[in-house]
Amino acid sequence: MIKLGFGLKYSDLYSTNGLYKIDKLFLHFLKKENDFLYKVLVDYRTKKYVENFDSDQLISISKIQEKFIGKIFGIENEILHYHKSQEFTKQLYTVKRNFVHRVAVQKYKKEDINQQKVNEDFFRLVRSPVKDKYDLDKLFILLLDKYKENTTEYVILAKYAASRIHFGPTSDLFSKPHKIDFENLINFSTNGYLLEKTGQEQISKSPYLEAHYCINCHKTEKDTCREGIKYKNAYKSNPLGNILKGCPLKIKISEMNEVFSNGYLISALSIISCNNPIVALTGKRICNDCSKACIYQKQEPVDIPSIESKILEDVLSLPYGFEIYSLLTAWQPLNQQEYLPSEYRGKKVLVVGTGPSGIALSYYLQRAGCYVVVIDALKIEPIPKHLIINPVKHISELKKSYEKIKPQGFGGVAEYGITDRWDKSNLLVSRLLLEKRKNFELHGGIKFGSNITYEQTKILGFESIALCCGSGYPQIPVLENISAGNVRTASDFLMSLGAGGANLEKSHTNFLVLLPAVVVGGGLTAVDAATQITKYYPFLAKKLYLKFKNKDLPFLTEAEKKQVEILVEHGERYYKEDLNAKKENRSPDYLKINDEFGGITILYRKNIKESPSYKINHEELGDALFHGIRILENADLESIEKDQYSNCSGVRVKLPDGGEKLINAKTILFATGTSPLTKKDISNGLDDKPDILVFGDMDPDYSGSVVKAIASVRDNYKKILNNISTPEKIYKKISSHYKYFTATVTENISHTDEIFELKIRNKFSAQNFVPGQFF
Ligand SMILES: Cc1cc2nc3c(=O)[nH]c(=O)nc-3n(C[C@H](O)[C@H](O)[C@H](O)COP(=O)(O)OP(=O)(O)OC[C@H]3O[C@@H](n4cnc5c(N)ncnc54)[C@H](O)[C@@H]3O)c2cc1C
Ligand code: SF4
Repeated sequence: MIKLGFGLKYSDLYSTNGLYKIDKLFLHFLKKENDFLYKVLVDYRTKKYVENFDSDQLISISKIQEKFIGKIFGIENEILHYHKSQEFTKQLYTVKRNFVHRVAVQKYKKEDINQQKVNEDFFRLVRSPVKDKYDLDKLFILLLDKYKENTTEYVILAKYAASRIHFGPTSDLFSKPHKIDFENLINFSTNGYLLEKTGQEQISKSPYLEAHYCINCHKTEKDTCREGIKYKNAYKSNPLGNILKGCPLKIKISEMNEVFSNGYLISALSIISCNNPIVALTGKRICNDCSKACIYQKQEPVDIPSIESKILEDVLSLPYGFEIYSLLTAWQPLNQQEYLPSEYRGKKVLVVGTGPSGIALSYYLQRAGCYVVVIDALKIEPIPKHLIINPVKHISELKKSYEKIKPQGFGGVAEYGITDRWDKSNLLVSRLLLEKRKNFELHGGIKFGSNITYEQTKILGFESIALCCGSGYPQIPVLENISAGNVRTASDFLMSLGAGGANLEKSHTNFLVLLPAVVVGGGLTAVDAATQITKYYPFLAKKLYLKFKNKDLPFLTEAEKKQVEILVEHGERYYKEDLNAKKENRSPDYLKINDEFGGITILYRKNIKESPSYKINHEELGDALFHGIRILENADLESIEKDQYSNCSGVRVKLPDGGEKLINAKTILFATGTSPLTKKDISNGLDDKPDILVFGDMDPDYSGSVVKAIASVRDNYKKILNNISTPEKIYKKISSHYKYFTATVTENISHTDEIFELKIRNKFSAQNFVPGQFF
C-alpha cells in the first residue's frame, strides 16, 4: 500500500473530507514556508476578490505546492533530479540566444563563411570523437566556456556557429526560428497535376527549449496566447483568416512556461490544471489556438501544445504521477475560489456521450457534488478493478491495461475519429479521473432516444439530461453511382479502426480498402483518413496474405474473390519488405509500395491553401504529404465510375481549365462535412424541455474542436446546478434500476454451425421497440 506523507491515507485523495484535510495541511505548510504568501492566500479566500492572484503570487504559491506534493508522495529526490536535469537545457538556450543568435550570426554573414575551412578549424579544436549532434552541442558549450572573448578559439567557435545556422545541419543549439510565410506553410512540389511534399519530415522541436523560447509576456500583460490579439476591442485575424482569440480555456500559458523552463514540473501542471483540468485530452497535435495567437506573428510561434503535453507526460512518468495529476484536478489552491470539490448535493444528471464534452462535464458535475451517470451508445470495455481501487504507481501499468482493452468505447471522436497521432492512453487517464471518484456510473451500449427515452429518465429520477452527442451524420453529395461498392464515408472508415479495432491483430472487424484510394474533402477528417490508409492497407493486405495464401476461397463471390486475390498478392509484397527490412536493420518502406499500387489521393474542390486543414492545422496536412499522400486541388467531382461488379473503379473530375480527368480509385471515401446534430434530433422532438441541455459539438457556439468542447462545458455547466435535491434516495434508486437500461445476453442457442439465436434482456429497449427496428 502507498505510504503518504503528513499522515495522510490514500483514500484521503478521493474523499471530500480527505481533500479538506490536505488543504488544511497545505495552509500550515505554506505559512511555514512563506508567511506573506499564506496571508495573501487566506485574504483572497476570505475576501473573495473577483481577481485571481497576480502572476508572481501564483508562481510562488505553485512552487511551494510542488514541494508540498513532493512530500505527500515521498518523491522529493525525483523532483530535485528533474530540476537538475533542466539545468543543461537552460544553459543551452542561454548560449543559443546570447551567443549563437546575438553574436555569431550577427557577425558572420553567409557570404563571409568558408564552410570547409570553418569545419576544419572547429574539428581541430574539438579533437575528440563526437558521437551525435547532441554530444556536439554539449561539447560546443563546454568549449565556449573555456575560451575567452576575442581569442582565436573564440572566433573559430563563432564562425562555426554561424556556419551551422547558415548551412545546417540544425540541432537544438544551432537553429533559429523561421519566418512565417502564410502562403507557403508547407513545401509542395507539382508532379504532373498532383501536389506532393518536397523536403524532409518536420523534426519535432524540444518542448523544453520551446518553453525557453517564450518571452513570458505576462510580465508586460501582452500574453496574447492566452487573451488573443485585439485591435480596438475586436479580435484580429491572421492572413489565413484564423481569428486570433487565444486559448479557449484561458490557461496561464506564460506563467506555465516560466516555471517549466526553470525546472518546476508539478508547479507547471498545477497552473495548467486551474483552467484545464482535463489537459489529458488537449495539447500536442490536438489544439493550437494558443500558438496561433502567440506574440510571434512574423516568426514561428512558441509550440505551446507540445509544452503542455510534455508537462503532463513528465508528471505522469514520476512515481505516482497519475495520482499527482488526479490530486491537482481535485484540489486546486491556485484557484482562490472553488479550490475544493463541493459536498455531495445529490442532483442526479444523465450525461449522454463520452466524448471530450461528456468527459469534461462529468468531471465538473462530480466536483460540484452531483450524482453523474454517463451513457454512450458504444459498447464500453470495463477497466481492470485494481486500477480503480489501488493507487497507480507507474504510468506503465495504465498504458499496458489500455493496450489490452483498446478500443475501450470511451472518448467519442477523440477515440474513434482522431487517429493515433496522439496518445490515446490519455483517454484511460481521463476515464480513471472519473471512475476513481464516488457518485459516478458509466454504462455503454445505451443509446439515448432508443434504449432509454426522456420519459424513462424521469422514472429513474434524473433531474437533468446533458446531451454531449457530437456532430451529426456525414454529408454525402448526390452523384452518379454514389452507391457503387467500396464508396464509403471517411468517418465509417475511421470508426471501424478507432471503435471496431479493424487495425488490431486480435480484431475480427475488417474494413475493405483497395488501392488506389481517393479521399474527397479538405478538412482534418480527409487528412486523417488518407494518412490512416497508408498504414492500414499494408496491415490488411499482410493479414489476408498470411490467412489465405495458397487457399481456395469457395465461400466468396467472384467479385469478392478478385478483391481478396489482389490483397493477398499485395500482402506478399509488404510481407517480403518486412523480411528485407529486418535483414537490413531498417524500417520497412511501405510508401514506395503503396505508390506502386496506385497510392492515396486527396481530392479537394478548391485551392488547398483555402482548405480548413491548411488554415487550421497545416502541420497535419504536411505530415500526410510526408506519408506519401498526393493532393489534386481545384478538382470538381463529376461522377463515379463502376467496374463490371458494380464496385467503384474511378472518379471523373473537372479541372479548372475545363478539361476532364479520370482518376483510378478502387476505394472512395467521402469526408465532406457533417450536418449539425440538434437537441430535437436526439430527444425525439423534445427540444422544448428546459432540463435538456447540449454541450460540445452539439452547441453551435463551440462546435468543431476538442478544446472548444471542453470550453463549452466550463462556460455552461453551472446551468445544470439549479434545483438541488436530496441525495441518499437517488443514489439507491439508480443502482436498483441499472438492469432496466443495460442489455444482458441471457441465452445463446446454436441452431446450425452458422446460425445462433441470442436472447437479450433489456426492459427499456423492449418497451421502446417499434416494428422494423434492428437491435
Ligand atoms: C477525423 C477527425 C479528426 C479530428 N481532429 C481534431 C483535432 O485534431 N483537434 C480537435 O480539437 N478536434 C478534432 N476533431 C473534432 C473533435 O473530435 C470534436 O470536436 C470533439 O470530439 C467533440 O466532442 P463532443 O464531446 O462534443 O462529441 P464526440 O467526440 O463526437 O462524442 C459524442 C459521443 O456521443 C455518443 N452518442 C451520440 N449519440 C448518442 C446517443 N443518442 N446516445 C448515447 N450516446 C450517443 C457517441 O457514441 C460519442 O461517443 C476531429 C474530428 C474528426 C472527425
Ligand atoms: S507563448 Fe507566445 S504570446 Fe504566450 S507568453 Fe510566450 S511568447 Fe508570449
